[in-house]
Amino acid sequence: MPTITDVRTILTAPEGINLIVVKVETDQEGLYGLGCATFAYREHAVKSVVDDYLKPLLLKRDVHKIEDLWHLMHNNAYWRNGGITNNAISGVDMALWDIKGKLAGLPVYELLGGKSREAVPYYRHVNGNTLDEIVEKIETLQKEGINHFRLQWGLYGGIAKNLNTPPNSEPGIYFSPSQYMQDTIKMFEHVRKHFGDSIELIHDIHERLSPSDAVFLAKRLEKHRLFFLEDPFPIEQVAWLEQLRNHSAIPVAIGELFNNPLEWTPLIKERLIDFIRVHISQIGGFTPARKLAVFAEQFGIRTAWHGPGDVSPVGHAANVHLSLNAHNFGILEWWDFPDILYKVFPGLPQVKNGYIHANDKPGFGIDIDETLAKKYPIKKTVTQWTQTRLPDGTLVNP
Ligand code: MG
Repeated sequence: MPTITDVRTILTAPEGINLIVVKVETDQEGLYGLGCATFAYREHAVKSVVDDYLKPLLLKRDVHKIEDLWHLMHNNAYWRNGGITNNAISGVDMALWDIKGKLAGLPVYELLGGKSREAVPYYRHVNGNTLDEIVEKIETLQKEGINHFRLQWGLYGGIAKNLNTPPNSEPGIYFSPSQYMQDTIKMFEHVRKHFGDSIELIHDIHERLSPSDAVFLAKRLEKHRLFFLEDPFPIEQVAWLEQLRNHSAIPVAIGELFNNPLEWTPLIKERLIDFIRVHISQIGGFTPARKLAVFAEQFGIRTAWHGPGDVSPVGHAANVHLSLNAHNFGILEWWDFPDILYKVFPGLPQVKNGYIHANDKPGFGIDIDETLAKKYPIKKTVTQWTQTRLPDGTLVNP
């Protein structure tokens, strides 16, 4: 049985976003696995958990025992389910699935039961500063075969105009909830009028509104037949989902901030959401995500794994393998990867005519060029985009 001889973190930022990848090496010549541990804004803390705690725990262990090793890592610090620990565990967990696939000579989706579909449909972000720009971007993406678009007019919280802020207000990103809501309603009216009903539309409130404003916006957007409305409420306010359900038939997606099964279990059991949006490294990796997909299937809830630029290409590859297999797959969020990421991560799934295609190599089918990755060191900066404020200066969820 191959055993673990090293567990290493690789930090790289080819696109300017800090990525953390874990490499698990074994005593079998040339056999290793890669996993995503990307917590882009706390990268050194994740690295420390991997290097200082997980590596000593895992050396000489049997690579085959993924389930046992996941629980070993999960319980080892006694306190569990935090984002930093979960990302560190995910790096190892995905790497072990990658290794298992390589040992079996099969892509990971085959280990799960095989493909439910030949390729994975996805959505892309459409952000624009004007309605014309939004329409143009949709038209460009349509030419690539894409039919699902997440629309944001000026990204999260919209474009602030003539805000009255008190003197000496703290620095931050200021926005007006009422301006944002009115502009968003206008945007959906414009886009539906222009394109008709054939395209699929998504919007992400990104927790920016008060709960009652989010219910109001959902009701106003309902007639535009959204594919889903994302994060209408912060995780601390999910009890409001019941009220939203009572007022609107708009499909709801939530979950990219979840850390803990206690956060998603009641929402799925009560059928308060339509899509589960978990960031799979944030919940501890491939092992818990696979279980979550199966659990959600029992309740008619579909998957839409979190897939922005602050998920590493290794994490995206894992999302693709889960999405190829799950019967209850809904849609996948896909990033517009620049060429450099295809060079640093050979095997990153390719897109063609609106679908993502995994290659048929064993494991997740993705590798890392460590020499090239080193040329793009990570940046140590204070995270700015999460400092979001109302006109009077009150901090709100980013
Ligand atoms: Mg989101």
